[in-house]
Amino acid sequence: MSKELNITPLNKWGFTFSTPLVIAGPCSVESEEQVMETALQLKDKPVDILRGGIWKPRTRPNSFEGIGSQGLRWLKDAGNAINKPVATEVANVKHVYEALRMNIDILWIGARTTVNPFAVQEICDALQGVDIPVIVKNPINPDLELWIGAFERLNRAGITKLAALHRGFSTHEKTKYRNIPRWNIPIELKRRFPELPIICDPSHICGTREYLREVAQTALDIGFDGLHLESHINPDKALSDAKQQVTPEAFGELMSLLQKRESLEENPSAENQLEMLRGRIDHLDHYLLEMLSERMDVVREIAEYKRNNNLAIVQPSRWTEILEDRLVTGIRKNLSEKFIKELFHAMHKESIEHQTAVMMKYDDNSVEKEA
Ligand code: PEP
Ligand code: MN
Repeated sequence: MSKELNITPLNKWGFTFSTPLVIAGPCSVESEEQVMETALQLKDKPVDILRGGIWKPRTRPNSFEGIGSQGLRWLKDAGNAINKPVATEVANVKHVYEALRMNIDILWIGARTTVNPFAVQEICDALQGVDIPVIVKNPINPDLELWIGAFERLNRAGITKLAALHRGFSTHEKTKYRNIPRWNIPIELKRRFPELPIICDPSHICGTREYLREVAQTALDIGFDGLHLESHINPDKALSDAKQQVTPEAFGELMSLLQKRESLEENPSAENQLEMLRGRIDHLDHYLLEMLSERMDVVREIAEYKRNNNLAIVQPSRWTEILEDRLVTGIRKNLSEKFIKELFHAMHKESIEHQTAVMMKYDDNSVEKEA
């Protein structure tokens, strides 16, 4: 498996993009007027690419499944009217051919397609040798390798104008999001492929308008390369994803409230200060590891004592006492309850493993002695 991706940076895609890159437009193209009017209202807003879904992957078949091929011309005309490239989702060979025939500028692969390597390969085969940018949404399940696999397949088809679109992950967990962001996954993607632009899609993460700003700001704070937001002239009447779409007006306001962050290349003077702070983090991390190692030394001593006195490893009352005490202290020190619980559960698990190992060592000896 190749470890590298061949990526053409956003500024060489052949369009004029701002930083961060912004994709906006309706979830679905519904009519010629709707997409044109949306585009015209977005014209004076910070938009680089006009989006619109033509074929909609819906959970249930009785929902609006997209206007179909006729909408491609409407989307393209709307893009031309505001002098912006247009993007649409392709999920099979027919979609690819139709989109290419209508000169759609940029394609994206949806979350329900990325999840299926057969479908992704089929799209790649249809795109072999075509120089068109492709944006890949994360698969609906939090599987980073599957996401990377789609980029590798596209690369093998000769496509290098690539970007990742983070739209969150399906989950059964109770959360305020429609699709839980699991930020560690796009961050790990960025760590492994620093050249690959990553765009965040707060609309599909949130599922409602309420948290769009907070999610978009988090993405910029982390250092994402762009944002993707669904905008519709009459969101409440939208035929798909009504709850999460915003008017072009509201989109403009949202964009103006966001705080842009600079990368170190853009602001080299920040480097020294940052280096100092990073030095402190490195120092604290090593200190933490030393403390943890010392804690495990004590744990092993306890295990020996328990073994000699025939005591069980887990003493539930002691464990409850530790957790309660550490929660009080941790919360007082501005750490979240969730974090303290996760941290102490992880330490407890590790501690039990160390203690079990100590007990087993003794058991082996006693077997030897008896033999
Ligand atoms: C969309 O962008 O409208 C869409 C269907 O998104 P996703 O593939 O992320 O569900
Ligand atoms: Mn949508």
